[in-house]
Amino acid sequence: RGINGGDYIHLDVTHLGEARLMERLPQITELAMNFAGVDPRREPIPIQPTAHYSMGGIPANPNTRVTCNENRDETIGFYAAGECSCISVHGANRLGTNSLLEALLFGRRAGKQIVRDLPHHDWPELPADYEDMAREEIDRLLNSDGTEKVAAIRSELQESMMRDCGVFRTKEQLQRQHEKLEELQERYRRIRIDDKGTRFNTDLIEAIELGHLLEFSGAIVEGALRREESRGGHFRRDFPKRDDARFLKHTLAWHRDGKWTLTFEKPVVLKGVHHKGFEPKERKY
Ligand SMILES: Cc1cc2nc3c(=O)[nH]c(=O)nc-3n(C[C@H](O)[C@H](O)[C@H](O)COP(=O)(O)OP(=O)(O)OC[C@H]3O[C@@H](n4cnc5c(N)ncnc54)[C@H](O)[C@@H]3O)c2cc1C
Repeated sequence: RGINGGDYIHLDVTHLGEARLMERLPQITELAMNFAGVDPRREPIPIQPTAHYSMGGIPANPNTRVTCNENRDETIGFYAAGECSCISVHGANRLGTNSLLEALLFGRRAGKQIVRDLPHHDWPELPADYEDMAREEIDRLLNSDGTEKVAAIRSELQESMMRDCGVFRTKEQLQRQHEKLEELQERYRRIRIDDKGTRFNTDLIEAIELGHLLEFSGAIVEGALRREESRGGHFRRDFPKRDDARFLKHTLAWHRDGKWTLTFEKPVVLKGVHHKGFEPKERKY
């Protein structure tokens, strides 16, 4: 597999010629030169698949207000737009260039909605211990004298998620990844960061982010395990067909007491406001 056993194949665009490459693909040409040290005008570019989008996210209405349950009840004062959100415009697979829709359109909507809503909101009282959770976590990370390294756990997480929770997955792979995540979570509790400073501490930020990556990987693996069908960017080799009766639903995930709880109750909105909508169809390619 791969060129000379490597984890990539070659994309040869030399036939396009220098003028066309510089006119139509200048950024890709520059990227290949800067990051792979390859001149696409003269030699093939090494390529490999990568995750370039996270489907799903914080559930929100088209007015970008965050919803908190299957009934789409709104959470006052909480808005989400962009890749972090799930406004349910992409289905199970965000098609190329459609990030623009959520970043620009819903970003703009969020701003306008917040301005409209603000006069109607009171400032809520913050609980006295509102920062305790964050402080405790930061203190724990700064003072931990474990032996595990953030970079090592992160690359094991990346490699194992790519291998066992990529687009094509099976129950066995996902269960293996579930166990791997438990192991990584356990090791994460024993990490040590060398920089103990409290200003511009990038080691600390990376450690905090790794905790979030581990947590959210859990939701992705659990969701993929429970969704016994294939749809969009999720292909279960052991369940290759789409199953609308059970799964034409959003997966809603809650993190409680260190565990993920998932439901498949929230219906997918198929009808547009000004359009009769689209019925899901079988993928023919
Ligand atoms: C390799 C690659 C190729 C892609 N190609 C395409 C494409 O061809 N077409 C397309 O439509 N989309 C593409 N995408 C996806 C698209 O780039 C993203 O969906 C889009 O940029 C997301 O924009 P955003 O503003 O929602 O989020 P982001 O651009 O991720 O912005 C979020 C910001 O929040 C900041 N942030 C995070 N946490 C905090 C915090 N706690 N406090 C303050 N700030 C915080 C981050 O630093 C970041 O600046 C691609 C993505 C990748 C990775």
